Amino acid sequence: MEPGVKEIQNLKNTCYINSIVQLLAHVWPLKQVFCEVLTKETIPENLELLALFHQLYNEIWSENSIRIKPKAFVEKCYTLSPYFVPKTQQDCQEFLMVFLDKLDQELMNSHPQGFSIISDTFKGAFTNEIKCTVCSFTTEKIEPFLQLDLSIPENAPSIRTIDCLMSAKETMMISDSQHGLFSPLISVFSKEKATLNLYYCLKAFFQEQNTEAYCQQCQCEKLHIIHPKFTEPPKYFLISLKRFKYNFWSSKVSDKVFVPKNLNLAHFSSLGFEYSLCAVIEHSGFLFRGHYKIYVNKLGQWWLLDDSKVEKVSWEDVFNAQTYICMYVRKDLCQRIPIEGSESIYCHKNISMPSRFMPRNEE
Ligand SMILES: [Zn+2]
Repeated sequence: MEPGVKEIQNLKNTCYINSIVQLLAHVWPLKQVFCEVLTKETIPENLELLALFHQLYNEIWSENSIRIKPKAFVEKCYTLSPYFVPKTQQDCQEFLMVFLDKLDQELMNSHPQGFSIISDTFKGAFTNEIKCTVCSFTTEKIEPFLQLDLSIPENAPSIRTIDCLMSAKETMMISDSQHGLFSPLISVFSKEKATLNLYYCLKAFFQEQNTEAYCQQCQCEKLHIIHPKFTEPPKYFLISLKRFKYNFWSSKVSDKVFVPKNLNLAHFSSLGFEYSLCAVIEHSGFLFRGHYKIYVNKLGQWWLLDDSKVEKVSWEDVFNAQTYICMYVRKDLCQRIPIEGSESIYCHKNISMPSRFMPRNEE
């Protein structure tokens, strides 16, 4: 087992923890911090989560062929929230948010210079432009996020929408996976459900909405139009899909949502940043009885990391996964590696760590 793609033992229903650990192991700025900047000796004793994650991170990237047993780390994770009851199934997206929050606190405590590598890596923002329909008075509200949680729209788009946003090859793959044989005409004219893709979920999220709100200029409640715009693109873009509905009839939305290899934000923002897909977490099964596994891209090769099962897979396998969380890296932080006879790949390149994050010299 080579560095970065190691087996991690499942300690009874801990695939939600394993998949998140494997996800974060492929975030380059974190890899630099955990494998190059922090050492066992520089982590204060009271920062247990940081110490255990640091150890785990280095096991994942070690040259040795080891099967990782994360017992101490998992037990620490159980203490992070009363919801993480040992040996029960949990939501990996919820775990990711709780874990990042606690990890951030401990990282900041280990380097009290006020720099957050977690925010620096994952934080993005969109801005809601709120306009009164009567007097046009406009306000703006910035909404920061560490991950964007998208609804899966109920009415799927036509294949033509997909066509214009995804590459021809990806559209072909959608078609193949649906029926084997395919004609755009059949899909457009028949009433069958067309296929969803990530652009459509993003499009729905950034759609204009109407709402009643107080207008400072009219000085009373008026109809407003909310227009969300992407204003701060994160370095690593985490997107989760709202697959689980917790209400009286708790259920799971099992619709397949295709994620493109390359994501261009030009459709939602004037900034026009481009991203490259680097990881996909799949949830298979049902609401209360399911399983998580992750696909990661390491130097252009896709790998399936499924607890104790680790294997090379094709892009088609990733493309057909029932995506729950996907992670993109901004292309301007990547190195482009051309491959003969194939699409070029984008690999993370080392970025210079802010000096505030470097360990302080002995005084
Ligand atoms: Zn007004």
